[in-house]
Amino acid sequence: MPELPEMENCKILLNQKIAGKRITNVIINREKSINVKAAEFLKKVKERKIETVDRRAKHLLLYLDNGYVLLLHLMLGGWMYYGTVKDKPDRSVQIQLSFGRQHLYFIGLRLGYLHLFTKEEVKKELAGLGPEPLAANFTFDTFSDLIENRRGMIKTTLVNQEFLSGIGNRYSDEIAWHAQLLPERTMNDLDSNEKRQLYQSIRFILQQAIQCGGYMDQPLFIGDTKTGGYEANMYVYNRAGEACKRCSALIVKEEISSRKTFYCKGCQR
Ligand SMILES: [Zn+2]
Repeated sequence: MPELPEMENCKILLNQKIAGKRITNVIINREKSINVKAAEFLKKVKERKIETVDRRAKHLLLYLDNGYVLLLHLMLGGWMYYGTVKDKPDRSVQIQLSFGRQHLYFIGLRLGYLHLFTKEEVKKELAGLGPEPLAANFTFDTFSDLIENRRGMIKTTLVNQEFLSGIGNRYSDEIAWHAQLLPERTMNDLDSNEKRQLYQSIRFILQQAIQCGGYMDQPLFIGDTKTGGYEANMYVYNRAGEACKRCSALIVKEEISSRKTFYCKGCQR
């Protein structure tokens, strides 16, 4: 499932492509992917301009010029492609937003969705989410307060969206490796140096992943050389049996609270 860096990458690239553009047509092939009747969706979205694309946690928010917002969550297996009919990937498309001859295709939306809300509704919808780990006001002190009474493991706490936004299975492993902490360690058992290291690793790994374009394996458009650049840089995720980049011990894969977890027994404590 795409996490914060992948969605941030999509946000940056989509803003370059569709911000300020008018949606000339809308095609809904799967009504389950939207939250209102198709006719209402069309009425409120067609002919509207995209003001801007924003991100919150693993969601993208497409702000329309009539005060409505399209809230996207790709969930597992969802992705997007932007291009002409000729470039369209040979996959079934659940929703299509057209911008003249260019189209934004939403593909693989089974659990994923594109919901229509007012700004007020979308605020409520996202109200339960924890802070954004890359926000300027997410300081070490904020983080320290958040984890003070946390008895959960690093792995399960980092992926908890009410605790912190945007981190999933993949980046939680990368962060724990970078912080040299075992994913099963409990939060309130960390000493102050470990807490500081964990905080710095959260910021470092997410920022690095964004700079490298995240891990999504499909480009967003023809000539997109940014998307997916982080896959080759993964430290532990999907690298079971390979040598640790820090200590050369073999990376192991284990289930922790029924979540696939990759880590190094050699250098994570
Ligand atoms: Zn190691």
